[in-house]
Amino acid sequence: MTVLVINSGSSSLKYQLVNPETGDAIASGLVERIGENSSLLKHSYGAQEVNLEAPVHDHSEALAKVLELFDQVGPALSEAGIVAVGHRVVQGGSYFSSAAIIDDRVRDLIEELAPLAPLHNPAHLKGIDVARELIKVPNVAVFDTAFFQGLPAAAATYALDKEVAAKYSIRRYGAHGTSHQFVSAAVADFLGTEELKQVVLHLGNGASASAVVNGKAVDTSMGLTPLEGLVMGTRTGDIDPAAVFHLSRVGGMSTDEIDTLFNKQSGLKGLTGDNDMRAVRSRATEGDADARLALDVVVHRLVKYVGSYTAVMGGLDTLTFTAGIGENDAELRAEVCERLAFMGVKLDADANAVRSMETRVISTEDSAVKVLVVPTNEELAIARQAMSLL
Ligand code: AMP
Repeated sequence: MTVLVINSGSSSLKYQLVNPETGDAIASGLVERIGENSSLLKHSYGAQEVNLEAPVHDHSEALAKVLELFDQVGPALSEAGIVAVGHRVVQGGSYFSSAAIIDDRVRDLIEELAPLAPLHNPAHLKGIDVARELIKVPNVAVFDTAFFQGLPAAAATYALDKEVAAKYSIRRYGAHGTSHQFVSAAVADFLGTEELKQVVLHLGNGASASAVVNGKAVDTSMGLTPLEGLVMGTRTGDIDPAAVFHLSRVGGMSTDEIDTLFNKQSGLKGLTGDNDMRAVRSRATEGDADARLALDVVVHRLVKYVGSYTAVMGGLDTLTFTAGIGENDAELRAEVCERLAFMGVKLDADANAVRSMETRVISTEDSAVKVLVVPTNEELAIARQAMSLL
């Protein structure tokens, strides 16, 4: 039994065929530049990898080509055992606190939520519509916001005029919930108990923190949109909203220009010109002052979030790093943990230096807080949620 996991973007379609029981990724690939003159297709199955350039006009043609690649390169669709298609959906609003089988009503609700995620939900719908048409198994939507639907009201509510907030559905929805749920559950499994006060730091190109008590999220750093919170590859994270008024009134910038500035030209990229942490770190090591300041801002923000979440939860049992930077950047983990020494956090330098794809503890035996690295796997999480719904 397998699940085809689809992440549909406005001009791309990524997929992975997952065995939800073993966790194996059996095949994967992507179609990029959909709608342009020459689109790129990549499909991998075991040791075989096919790369093609061909015109792909829309998502329907993209998925049809993907299904052809399954038959040509493998595994053949008749033998792939696909029992469900799982779709990543960024915004589930207040409607979805768990995954949902996609029928016409669920589809329409995802569409209705598009104003809250204008870049994502319409793009997901393209993938959902073609998959429902071409693959005759249940389609399941797994929402990035679902894990945070149960946030306590005190954490989810902005101190905004309550009628305006209600009229425009303004609250904290969070994002990356699939990863935070998967990773916090993996920590509980690994330690053999769910009774934990956890902070999870998902540090990739997008970055977010969550506070999780006994398996339930009690706070998270992303808000109405994924802009709020930690410093990211190209996003500001927390910034005084009055900067928007200032840029508009004094800088003469339009709303769209400020949106692009905050979401695409800020964060590591805005501070250094590079949005890739590896480049920023190597420049900092060579003495580049911009890169060093960027890392200092990143670490300062992380320490602030861990400290405030510890206060919110009334303690901290585990601190977990995940995603591209969290899993790979041992120096960043060390810098954050050093600043948390006052809380009794003690990193084991040798364990921290090990590179591995396994869940692991990187704190010393006598550390007051267990520090872990857990590789996130959103595709597997989506496949498992789809299976459990069926
Ligand atoms: P993700 O969005 O989870 O794929 O993570 C992407 C981020 O992880 C990029 O900023 C990469 O530079 C960063 N990353 C990947 N490998 C490393 C590494 N070895 N050291 C530091 N950052 C890394």
